[in-house]
Amino acid sequence: MREQRTETTIRSRSGKKISVTHRGGILVRTPSQSIALDPRRASKADYSFVSHAHIDHIHSPDGKSKLIASNETVTLAKARGYDLKGAVDSLAGVDLTDAGHILGSRAILVEDSVFYTGDFSTRDRGFLKGSPGTKCDTLIMETTYGHPRYVFKDTEKIVSRVNRLIADCFDRCRPVVLTGYPLGKAQLITHLFRNWEPVYLHESVHRMNEAHIDLGIEIPRHDFCGSGSKQSLLLQRRPWIMISPASSGRSQFIKSMRENYGAVVIAFTGWAVEPRYSYMMGVDYAFDLSDHCDFNELVQLAKYCDPSKIYTVHGFAAEFAEHLKFLGFDAEPLEGIEQNTLTSYA
Ligand SMILES: [Zn+2]
Repeated sequence: MREQRTETTIRSRSGKKISVTHRGGILVRTPSQSIALDPRRASKADYSFVSHAHIDHIHSPDGKSKLIASNETVTLAKARGYDLKGAVDSLAGVDLTDAGHILGSRAILVEDSVFYTGDFSTRDRGFLKGSPGTKCDTLIMETTYGHPRYVFKDTEKIVSRVNRLIADCFDRCRPVVLTGYPLGKAQLITHLFRNWEPVYLHESVHRMNEAHIDLGIEIPRHDFCGSGSKQSLLLQRRPWIMISPASSGRSQFIKSMRENYGAVVIAFTGWAVEPRYSYMMGVDYAFDLSDHCDFNELVQLAKYCDPSKIYTVHGFAAEFAEHLKFLGFDAEPLEGIEQNTLTSYA
């Protein structure tokens, strides 16, 4: 992967000198502190900002760099086996704002000037509220779906179409497996399809659902169902819904759901916009329910933040920066940061 180096220095609104450096990761320096933004591994900065608890954003601290993360992120990371010890959720010169991506996800505004979105959603979905963004001078924004072909359907339309599919399957006594990332998407699916029963959870989803319930999110509590004795229950109680991690239809778990119980598999991901997604992933249906902004929402976000400089990261960073330039923004991609792809699961 080509390593790009970028360094820019700006003046904050209060006249402080701030530099944004990119050498594989992103570092923001103010006169009083340095902050690494979502570093993939322990950093030498004074602080490391952990925007949310998806696996590609969390790392175990080495004690040199203090962590900045929301309390929910610390709790969810712990449930995934990561101890973000010593993390603080506030710091002088820094504002954390909701990123609307998953429970506890935050964006960071440094010295009222540099705004880093992390993974971001402007759209309300179930118990998750979208965030409009923040006015800033320099915007560092995620552009996972920064290509015009990624425009997502309304959540209500997706839910009503899937409810019809489930009803049709249940009429034929066919169980349904709903798949999504175990943290974030799976809890949203649990919430959106809460009127069906019985519902079982894959063990990894169960762990994350329980952590959400402990944090006060109102989703129904369901049993997990792995191998062994529960399997006979699945045979007796057909039809049912199983909520499972996003994985290929060729995975062992999904295969067993199909072969043993005749389950129909429905996936939820922004990548479902790709016409061949269902075929490629070996699922029966796929819907574009995403925890990221779509193309139009990214444009809205940039306009709302109204910065004088924009850096784009992840996904279609180069393409989206070109589009922003076409709209009159000074925009540039930060390439070389590891990217989400069609088959990456957080
Ligand atoms: Zn994420």
